[in-house]
Amino acid sequence: MKYISTRGRAPALNFEQVLLTGLASDGGLYVPESLPKFSPEDIAGMAALDYPQLAQKIIAPFVDDCIPADDLRGIIEDTYAEFRHNAVAPMVQIGANQWVLELFHGPTLAFKDFALQLLGRLLDYVLERKHQKVVILGATSGDTGSAAIEGCKHCKNIDIFILHPHNRVSDVQRRQMTTVHGDNIHNLAVEGNFDDCQAMVKASFGNQGFLADERSLVAVNSINWARIMAQIVYYFYAAVALGAPARAVAFSVPTGNFGDIFAGYLARQMGLPIERLIIATNRNDVLHRALTNASYGRQPLEHSLSPSMDITVSSNFERLLFDLYDRDGARIAQLMKEFDDGAIQFSDTAMQRARALFSSHCVSDEQTCEQIASTWRECEYLLDPHSAVGVRAALRSDIGPATPVITLATAHPAKFPDAIKQSGLSQVVALPLHLQDLFERDERMDVVPNDLAAVQAFISANIKA
Ligand SMILES: *Cc1c(COP(=O)(O)O)cnc(C)c1O
Repeated sequence: MKYISTRGRAPALNFEQVLLTGLASDGGLYVPESLPKFSPEDIAGMAALDYPQLAQKIIAPFVDDCIPADDLRGIIEDTYAEFRHNAVAPMVQIGANQWVLELFHGPTLAFKDFALQLLGRLLDYVLERKHQKVVILGATSGDTGSAAIEGCKHCKNIDIFILHPHNRVSDVQRRQMTTVHGDNIHNLAVEGNFDDCQAMVKASFGNQGFLADERSLVAVNSINWARIMAQIVYYFYAAVALGAPARAVAFSVPTGNFGDIFAGYLARQMGLPIERLIIATNRNDVLHRALTNASYGRQPLEHSLSPSMDITVSSNFERLLFDLYDRDGARIAQLMKEFDDGAIQFSDTAMQRARALFSSHCVSDEQTCEQIASTWRECEYLLDPHSAVGVRAALRSDIGPATPVITLATAHPAKFPDAIKQSGLSQVVALPLHLQDLFERDERMDVVPNDLAAVQAFISANIKA
């Protein structure tokens, strides 16, 4: 399997190379040159598989001959053994044709564990084999940082540095990062905001000279292909559980960077009968506006009750554009330049293609709270604010009663107690057992100035692996 850049000018890579790369050298994102296809008979056969077995089936063609099948199976089994539910991704019915796919049974209680638990293990495997060591550098406003730290804490060949804005992430989210201890784990609390953190990460990837002895940086955000790959699996898992291939389903996906929902798009291209993919956004609605007005342009960031979807640019959208524009890399490079200069106007063909599969819905904080309250009233099921955005969009869509609509529940409600309170509910949501002593654990972090040179000096002085 070869991976090519959406901007058409970077070299094609194999799986191992793409795993160790962030952005392509031409500024694009890597995508598979072609996709594995599953027939209706193949999909019917998936009903007999448990989650790790299904993951093996879906992931193996992407990994190709870079990792022997038995080793890959071991990595996948270890990964999903970390999840605290036998089904790994169980489903709950909350309405006549409404379902919730619970993706929060991993170590950090958010769906990012599905990809980052696997990514850490895949990285360590290939690094061990190559006798190579790397540095993971990432910025987080919440969920990515803790999932990356949990995913890499046992990796012998990785030092991990996560930047978060000092005093601007929730207590639960901060403690999920700072209470994980290891020589190779570094939490940097930057005296600045999330954009400052992200800008320093970007600048560091652009010029890696501050790293000594041939180390390089690896990205753990969703531009890393392996993250998208891991997320394809649960679309198959859920659809098959509800009757695919005989019955088509729809998915509603709480969306920020378009990584999770892009995995759903790929599942459909691989043969899964998905009738519709609903893009559910909070009021940072760049994608909803794009689909509604055929124009993709940024607006200022707004803070919402669903902070993990607070974005101004939806980086993985470029991967969809690549297909909408017949995989014409030169055209995508030009469009992304127009985006940097202001906004993209879509062609009629591109827009028709997008609207044939995707619809979108923008959900306010007030509607998010209404949804948390009404789902609780109707079935005593507690949604976190991100999942509530998804359920609200699912209920507002025009999908017929014969099609099951599956909302991805991307986080556990205990991560966002304030939103639950704001919804007028008095429930105290307990953290799952493995995190119940979270507030008694020791925290370890370093507060650093909002200064690139200082952050880079800290990193180069603390590389240990
Ligand atoms: C990251 C995240 C999202 C958004 O996922 P994307 O892949 O960026 O679209 C939604 N909900 C939660 C809880 C998240 O952590």
